[in-house]
Amino acid sequence: MPRPLDDGDELRAGQLIIATGVRDVLPDIDGVEFDQEALDTLAAVGIPLIDEQVSAVEVTEDAISGLRLADGRTVPVEAVGVSSGMRANLDGLEALGLETETNPQGTFLRADDTGHTNVPGVWGTGNVMDPDLQLSECISHGARVAVTINNGLIFGDAEAALAATRKSV
Ligand SMILES: Cc1cc2nc3c(=O)[nH]c(=O)nc-3n(C[C@H](O)[C@H](O)[C@H](O)COP(=O)(O)OP(=O)(O)OC[C@H]3O[C@@H](n4cnc5c(N)ncnc54)[C@H](O)[C@@H]3O)c2cc1C
Repeated sequence: MPRPLDDGDELRAGQLIIATGVRDVLPDIDGVEFDQEALDTLAAVGIPLIDEQVSAVEVTEDAISGLRLADGRTVPVEAVGVSSGMRANLDGLEALGLETETNPQGTFLRADDTGHTNVPGVWGTGNVMDPDLQLSECISHGARVAVTINNGLIFGDAEAALAATRKSV
């Protein structure tokens, strides 16, 4: 049974696979910031930009009907979209010194196609290292990481045995 290990317990292992996924990071909305390119793109496709703080979402008969703005105006809308980011669930692992990478989607564990991180013996798989992976891809990647670890353990043991044999002759 997986245990969160937040009870002070300690487990020791030669290999550690991090598969803790991601969590959404919702913007602290006080007004969303757009750079000039984003503004130009919105204008080019005919999307009006209203540069004002939203103070409330108005609901009429259980349906979104408008956005109330801080200046008192109400803009009629049928839907509201809020862009969220993501963050890899790496809390508590800071002491490992794992490298992360940040892109427009958020911050994630840096790991290669076979799950290697910058720390030997620590592996990453699934959304924690690639938020674009869907479920079947996460499963497939996890299996690949497991095979890579298994191969490393087998060949590591074999190399150690061979080295010991040569040392003794
Ligand atoms: C709303 C939504 C809809 C989706 N729909 C689809 C879909 O239709 N088809 C599809 O293929 N994919 C879909 N996905 C994506 C899919 O769910 C993910 O790609 C997949 O679950 C990622 O697997 P994972 O193992 O990397 O992470 P997760 O499934 O997120 O598992 C991570 C686990 O780690 C645990 N965890 C986190 N931190 C800690 C910690 N500190 N200690 C111990 N445990 C921890 C979490 O509780 C969780 O159980 C959807 C995702 C979302 C959010």
